[in-house]
Amino acid sequence: MAIRDILAIPHPILRQRAKKVRRVDKRLLRLAHDMVETMREAGGVGLAANQVGELRRLVVIQIPEEEEARIYINPEILKRSGAREVEEGCLSHAGYRAMVNRSEWIRFGALDHTEKVVKIKTDGLLSQAMEHEVDHLNGILYLDHLVEHATPYRVDEEGQPLDTELESGEDESDTPSDLLEDDDVPASMKIK
Ligand SMILES: [Zn+2]
Repeated sequence: MAIRDILAIPHPILRQRAKKVRRVDKRLLRLAHDMVETMREAGGVGLAANQVGELRRLVVIQIPEEEEARIYINPEILKRSGAREVEEGCLSHAGYRAMVNRSEWIRFGALDHTEKVVKIKTDGLLSQAMEHEVDHLNGILYLDHLVEHATPYRVDEEGQPLDTELESGEDESDTPSDLLEDDDVPASMKIK
């Protein structure tokens, strides 16, 4: 297995439509496993083949509480229902997140890594990830689904929003250093 380079927005391949996989062969499965490794290394929940420069309808998804990554070939969303606003990021847009519109639940079909046809109805993170990844295969990005008036915001490596101190209208440099260190003091010591 190998880690692949992840293409970043606005790379043109991210706006192209991936082609249907006709044959599940060793080469395709090697690509799938490379994608799993690349996704894990980058700390992502999902990755579509477009993002590593391969225009093939192949996605991988890693749900944090699941041990194994999911590999889906030629995935298709068969039904979607409801609407919700969720926070989302993309490995091709590292360091950013945004609020986007997604379905409440979906039903999707695909081939799994053993070439078995699967049909799954799901909500929550898997549903969100699947909508995101199938979009990639069609050249669509999460930025195309922004909630009205929402804009992407910067986050740190843990996904925490940056620049939040600006919301209070105060300049960071005016904050006394002893206040910044206050968080390191256990609560029990602060009381004394
Ligand atoms: Zn993405």
